[in-house]
Amino acid sequence: MASESLQTYQMYIDGAWVEAAGGETFESFNPFTAKPWALIPRGGAEDVERAVAAAHRAATSGDWPAMTASQRGHMLRKLGDLVVDAADDLAKTEVRDNGKLLAEMNGQTRYLPQWYYYYAGLADKIEGSVIPIDKPGHFNYTKWEPLGVVACIIPWNSPLLLMAWKLAPLLAAGNTAVIKPSEFTSASALEFMKLVEQAGFPPGVVNVVTGFGPEVGGPLVEHPKVAKIAFTGSDRTGKLIYQQAAKDLKKVSMELGGKSPNIVFADAHIENAVKGAVSGIFAATGQTCIAGSRLLVQESIHNEFVDKLVSLGAQARMGNPMSLETQVGPVTNIPQYEKVLGYIDIAKGEGAEAVLGGGRAERPECGDGWFVEPTIFTGVRNDMRIAQEEVFGPVLSVIPFKDDEEAIAIGNDVLFGLAAGVWTQNIGRAITMADKLQAGTIWVNTYRAVSYLSPFGGYKHSGLGRENGQQMIKEYLQQKSVWIETSNAEAPNPFVMR
Ligand code: ADP
Repeated sequence: MASESLQTYQMYIDGAWVEAAGGETFESFNPFTAKPWALIPRGGAEDVERAVAAAHRAATSGDWPAMTASQRGHMLRKLGDLVVDAADDLAKTEVRDNGKLLAEMNGQTRYLPQWYYYYAGLADKIEGSVIPIDKPGHFNYTKWEPLGVVACIIPWNSPLLLMAWKLAPLLAAGNTAVIKPSEFTSASALEFMKLVEQAGFPPGVVNVVTGFGPEVGGPLVEHPKVAKIAFTGSDRTGKLIYQQAAKDLKKVSMELGGKSPNIVFADAHIENAVKGAVSGIFAATGQTCIAGSRLLVQESIHNEFVDKLVSLGAQARMGNPMSLETQVGPVTNIPQYEKVLGYIDIAKGEGAEAVLGGGRAERPECGDGWFVEPTIFTGVRNDMRIAQEEVFGPVLSVIPFKDDEEAIAIGNDVLFGLAAGVWTQNIGRAITMADKLQAGTIWVNTYRAVSYLSPFGGYKHSGLGRENGQQMIKEYLQQKSVWIETSNAEAPNPFVMR
């Protein structure tokens, strides 16, 4: 395809639309056509410098820090209103860029405004307190202050949603942002900046620098004026960023991968559990950190359950993600496509049996797209790589278990701890499982439910900190304690502590 026919994008820095300082661009691909559709500026250290300088200026001078919290909330509400109007277009941009289903992205982008509304409401409820202090003649109060410049590093699987989880609370708290979208899905963040501009945020409050991990993410993480890094992505990159952040004691919150157990007991509502298993692994083509990629099934119902699952999985309609009928879309990018196929080979090599799928999809409706057949492996042991490592694709490992103790042991025997599903009609069992499973989110008789209202984040290697919910705003604030001597009495012995 000639580059003239590609949609061209600019970055958004200091309230202006700009090319990369080096003048270079890179192509963004549509995973369904396997062809480039957009040209994105290839940023580097110089662009990061400009963006961080602008964000730092905006955080420390001018209109933004002078605004009242209620005014910040008002701007966020306005942004939410603009997202409502743009939701359907934003959904199409996401589908074109990352291949997720329009049916799912419509839902996501229509839900997105809630993050901006919710944190808009919270902006002017960030209250300090007066401490009944135990030192006579002293008054002590606390207040919460913004951190300054927050670097938001975003993955490709749900770009606008995961950006909102960071951007809405950090702005409500009075910070400024430099956003680095994934190099595979930069377009939606840039489209979103048109709304930020329309909402009237002062220049420099929100900036986007596009480009590759080491070229943009690296200098951003290292920049001395970045106070905090909010990251969602792989555990490998998260660990790198954490080490880098430690050099300057930057604050970090990170949501990393998962290898979540989805546990089905014999006493479950079986038809719902089958749907829950499908939704856990084939929705979003399995490209979600919360994928229920280890399906633990109680031995007594194992074969019957697998039969039902295979028959539902086999009916999944693959094809153009823009069609509302499609149920499984392509994998977002070539490296990921190769990684998923590689894991299928690893699983076969480990002795697992593919009872559904097990390779690339060669169906006519998949065209040239990067499609993998919905794949179910049985005969998986929890110590196999296919059960321990995050595949991030439509590949399910089924593992049998005998009783509650064994389900808990297998469920927790993994480095990650992002989420877990439990399917049972026994309320006592459900609560005990929720207590014992080491994961930040537990779903009972449901799966993949998330909301701006409820904290989300990982145990163990799945991350640090939480996103969503009220307490989340504290992740973007620091507390100050103020002491005032009120008695005007003569100062006591200065050589001892007061
Ligand atoms: P994935 O493998 O799913 O693409 P990554 O963790 O590599 O996950 O990517 C998530 C985000 O982190 C992307 O925006 C990517 O560009 C960015 N990234 C990758 N490497 C680095 C790095 N060394 N420093 C900072 N950001 C990075």
